[in-house]
Amino acid sequence: MINFLNLKTINNQYEQELKDACARVIDSGWYIMGQELESFENEFASYCGIKHAIGVANGLDALILVIRAWKELGKIKEGDEVIVPANTYIASVLAITENNLIPVFVEPDPITYNLSVENVRLAISEKTKIILPVHLYGLISPMPELMEIAKEFDLLVLEDCAQAHGASISGKKAGTWGDAAGFSFYPGKNLGALGDAGAITTNDDELAEAIRAIRNYGSKIKYENLYTGVNSRLDEIQAAMLRVKLNYLDAETKRRQDIANRYRSEITNKIIQLPQWKDDANHVFHLFVIQIENRNEFQQYLSNHGIQTVIHYPIPPHKQKAYKQWEGVSLPLTEKMHEQVLSLPIDPTMNDEDVLTIIEKINGYKYK
Ligand SMILES: *Cc1c(COP(=O)(O)O)cnc(C)c1O
Repeated sequence: MINFLNLKTINNQYEQELKDACARVIDSGWYIMGQELESFENEFASYCGIKHAIGVANGLDALILVIRAWKELGKIKEGDEVIVPANTYIASVLAITENNLIPVFVEPDPITYNLSVENVRLAISEKTKIILPVHLYGLISPMPELMEIAKEFDLLVLEDCAQAHGASISGKKAGTWGDAAGFSFYPGKNLGALGDAGAITTNDDELAEAIRAIRNYGSKIKYENLYTGVNSRLDEIQAAMLRVKLNYLDAETKRRQDIANRYRSEITNKIIQLPQWKDDANHVFHLFVIQIENRNEFQQYLSNHGIQTVIHYPIPPHKQKAYKQWEGVSLPLTEKMHEQVLSLPIDPTMNDEDVLTIIEKINGYKYK
């Protein structure tokens, strides 16, 4: 069986270092908001090329807390509109609705799966305050164009970088283009902790200071509360795990890219629609997503041949039961994508033999 993702194999590569880091935290006697977190925040900020990184409990909280802080700072208010891709993981949308702002769904660029610059322009209204680009599957959104629109209409930009650690355009990394960004370090992400974790990046001192307080009960000085904050801190243990894994992120990304390049050049079955990317867009391949018309039959075929695949995602946010208010909304491009997408294994620890097996099985597939 070729698994979609082998977390155990991935983490076993660094077993001794991870265990040493764990021991260091246990021995320190200090488990929350300590030296490991501070060091990880500095190291991750420096990796991204940005002033502030602020550790939080998970990727969803990272997005929620940026919007929350902008409300506290008076930059936006409830009822304002946020432009968001319709074809995203629900977390991007939850961050908006949790803050009582209004998501405005836009259809993607069908080639890149990312925000379409034209559709963003069409979606802007008097009430628009934020653009929330999601760097889906590891490909960075067209940030130069989006930042230009944001400037023209005086909008804030919040990047959802949960799938795009290290992706870049002309060397400028995801998480440094917008006013702020949210990262997830969920175990299956390109930079994964051994539990839940997330971070916010920004160059804005005032925003960083507000978020640092809000994530910790709204407090800067213990028992003095400036905001009705939350408890969303990144534990010392997870910060220590992330410090180890950050050192290997670029090597793992390189392996993901090598596998993706092989898929691109060696999958020749015309039934399969391969993802497209320009080589200068540093696609970090969190996922390698193809499209195919009879997706479920194809997935079963691969499964019969011992290849595990996953669908990202089967139901778009606006069709979820949680969001009954958009039941009648029709976004045909997004809905069609959700019916056709399939993610192939792109585990950095997968060997060349497995990659070849996957390619051969895909090339051998025919419609019934
Ligand atoms: C994983 C993910 C999130 C949420 O991250 P968690 O750490 O699971 O809360 C947000 N947005 C996108 C696009 C994601 O893939």
